[in-house]
Amino acid sequence: MNVEGKKVTVVGAARSGLAVAKLLAVRGAEVFLTEEGRAAPGVRDDLDAAGVAYEFGGHTVRALDADFLAVSPGVPTRSSLVQNAMKGGLSVYSEIEVASWFCDAPIIAITGSNGKTTTTSLVAHIVSTANRPLVVAGNIGTAFADRVADCDDDTTVVLEVSSFQLDHIDTFRPRVSVLLNITPDHLNRYDDDFGKYAAAKLRIFENQKPGDVLVYNHDDDLVRERVERDVPAGVVRYPFSLDHELDQGAFVRDGSILLRLTSPTAPTSASGGHKPTPMEEVLMPASDLSLRGRHNLYNSLAAAVSARAMEISSDVVRESLASFEGVPHRLEFVREIGGVRYINDSKATNVNAVWYALESFDEQVVLIAGGRDKGNDYASLQPLVKAKCRGVVGLGESGDKVVLELGDYAKAAARAQSMEEAIQFARLMAEEGDVILLSPACASFDMYKNYEQRGDEFKRLVHSL
Ligand code: ADP
Repeated sequence: MNVEGKKVTVVGAARSGLAVAKLLAVRGAEVFLTEEGRAAPGVRDDLDAAGVAYEFGGHTVRALDADFLAVSPGVPTRSSLVQNAMKGGLSVYSEIEVASWFCDAPIIAITGSNGKTTTTSLVAHIVSTANRPLVVAGNIGTAFADRVADCDDDTTVVLEVSSFQLDHIDTFRPRVSVLLNITPDHLNRYDDDFGKYAAAKLRIFENQKPGDVLVYNHDDDLVRERVERDVPAGVVRYPFSLDHELDQGAFVRDGSILLRLTSPTAPTSASGGHKPTPMEEVLMPASDLSLRGRHNLYNSLAAAVSARAMEISSDVVRESLASFEGVPHRLEFVREIGGVRYINDSKATNVNAVWYALESFDEQVVLIAGGRDKGNDYASLQPLVKAKCRGVVGLGESGDKVVLELGDYAKAAARAQSMEEAIQFARLMAEEGDVILLSPACASFDMYKNYEQRGDEFKRLVHSL
């Protein structure tokens, strides 16, 4: 796509918006950035230096005087500017769409409602262990547009992709696309319509071509049905499952991870050749994976298949999946003191995430939970708390509710007024061999700026014990 001389309006001056504005300016477009809010410190200077014109504090008619719009993922499609642009026949593209125009490197794109960051990090770890040039970008932190200049043909791009980014793609085409799961999330951005949210996620494979690979969760009924119905002809499908043995893809048998993949050089049916027979290989015992829990087994299967589809050797995949150190704030090991292990799972901001966290431990757990509760129902945790929790410590705004709904199911319960007190109570309850787990089931905004700050404070206090 040649954008030279094109008039482009970029909507939103957060990380991705700024990145795409600068990228388009470097590529010769006449860029105008429009932002509803105020300018963050330094942003005006930054845009001046990049030759990008701008307006802050609202959108004027100038914003619609463009050949097309590039929108930040933070800008809802229903915003009046985007709606007016679409009504006026202007194309609207997301930041990853625009960035992908300037990147010929193969892309592994990962989406899903849960597990994106973990799987993206796993795949990135495998690619870097294989000593391949690597760019990791997207939802995970760095905007893709900021990294396209680092992409050569031999680079592998690993992208964490949100549904908002997929809302406005046109030609975005991953070499390998990964669909982890689809469960209700962000429905406020999709008119409370789960179908619309799911449809956005499913767009990840719409531009894939014969020989490209689609890795998907066979145990997620929606994902499986829609992939099998809509996948473009000739795209190689690699499902993964914990419930079934599959003819092709990845699954677990007798505790071992098995892969059944076709050679990447074998002809596909769409190119007129015979249908290649998948080769079966035993990758590794699931117990050798460094990440614990059923959800991480899914993430590891998805990562392994994606890497093998990029012809990374099984040895490298095995070594990487065993050595991966995890992602901060997701079941992150902090320290062991007197035979008690401290685990930070501050990213567990909903009940479902805590369920998976508790499920992953064989040890007795003292659970620290609570925070800004968005109408949580803790009942689904009660059986697990009964089976696994030595204690429950309630913290934050919903601390009382946590103790009320879960306390009776554990051997001990307490209500803490601060993180420091929560850790002290948990220490008193824990016995040698136990785990003290911060897994709040709630947002952090009652006490902290974000979940990272909450997890960092937990870690700091644990290290100071
Ligand atoms: P995302 O980037 O999609 O928000 P993360 O990798 O940051 O996902 O994980 C967020 C939380 O979701 C984790 O704390 C974990 O408990 C849970 N989780 C991770 N992977 C999965 C999965 N495959 N299925 C369900 N839940 C998961």
